[in-house]
Amino acid sequence: MQPHLSKKAAHFTESVIREMTRLADRCGAINLAQGFPDFPAPEAMKEAACRAIRADMNQYAITWGAKKLRDAIATKYQNFWNLSVDAEKEITICCGSTEAMIASCLAVIDPGDEVVIFEPFYENYGPDVILSGAAPRFVSLYYPDWSFDPEQLEAAFNNRTRAIIVNTPNNPTGKVFSRAELEFIAQLCQKWDALAITDEIYEHIIYDGLEHTLMCQLPGMRERTITINGISKTYSLTGWRIGYAIASETLTNAIRKVHDFLTVGAAAPLQEAAVVGLQMPKGYYVHLSLEYQRKRDFLYSVLGNVGLRSALPRGAYYIMSDISPFEYPDDVQFVGYLTQEVGVAAVPGSSFFFDPSKGRHFIRFCFCKKDETLALARDRLSRLCVSRLQSE
Ligand code: GLN
Repeated sequence: MQPHLSKKAAHFTESVIREMTRLADRCGAINLAQGFPDFPAPEAMKEAACRAIRADMNQYAITWGAKKLRDAIATKYQNFWNLSVDAEKEITICCGSTEAMIASCLAVIDPGDEVVIFEPFYENYGPDVILSGAAPRFVSLYYPDWSFDPEQLEAAFNNRTRAIIVNTPNNPTGKVFSRAELEFIAQLCQKWDALAITDEIYEHIIYDGLEHTLMCQLPGMRERTITINGISKTYSLTGWRIGYAIASETLTNAIRKVHDFLTVGAAAPLQEAAVVGLQMPKGYYVHLSLEYQRKRDFLYSVLGNVGLRSALPRGAYYIMSDISPFEYPDDVQFVGYLTQEVGVAAVPGSSFFFDPSKGRHFIRFCFCKKDETLALARDRLSRLCVSRLQSE
């Protein structure tokens, strides 16, 4: 019997990023595909998690998040960004920013709506929008500086536009949207009465002295922005699945309802431990960025040395490389060769594009790894250079 599957589920594929991790594991390849660190999380957070479990914090937290964690988030936004957030009314803790994003989409988007997404995009956004019953409208970011054409963006908005998803610092491109670009987007949101749903999970991973701009702090955007964030990338705890959405009370009420019926709540002891991270001194974040900048510079030069030209990322921890010099049929086959023969896994560029053909000459590497892992990747990638030269 052929069971009935929903039209929604038929409209997207499995995550290629997560599939690459499974392939890397099977092949013993170094996983520069899925973006998660291979070094330990802050000791104080691990200790706090153990303490919470030993203290029998085993039952549900409040569905929209433990008060202690919401207070810590509000305090951090006040101290770090000078943004005042009402912890009682404007924060929803979710199971990772992944859930915060889909809960937000389901809370504000209706079938028939349109949602603007910059392309290339982190692969979750497409399914998030489709599961919400809406249609994505893609606007290109152009290699190598990943700028967008303001006219194309303007043309993507219309009276069906319910929201735009903005991810800055950006995965997979490493683009950091400038204040001027965000102001342009903000003005379109106001003109078309649309929301900005911003994924700011890489807010503290930013290089070369650039600064992160919060969309919700631009004039007229506080009530129109859903700010998505989480502890995964900042504190190197991607498996803890603690994320959150910050939005006005009205939006938050809707997000909290959806969140409650999706997952009830994030892990209680880990919420307790997340508080310790949010109380880190400012120096922690400076150190984080500098460390990642060093890793970025290392991998960028390794890739350049083996003939993979790339756009230098200005934030987040990914590098998109141009594989055209290799004259491989496509990105998927190139990544297959890289993972199975060279022993380094990456993500095919096409998985970040709606039209796969636009991503065929890109692959994405992540550099959120120990120095020794990156050094091992360099050694393995040098084979790529040799094999390329031999085939020439
Ligand atoms: N953000 C990470 C990436 O792009 C992975 C996120 C995930 O797999 N949930 O690789």
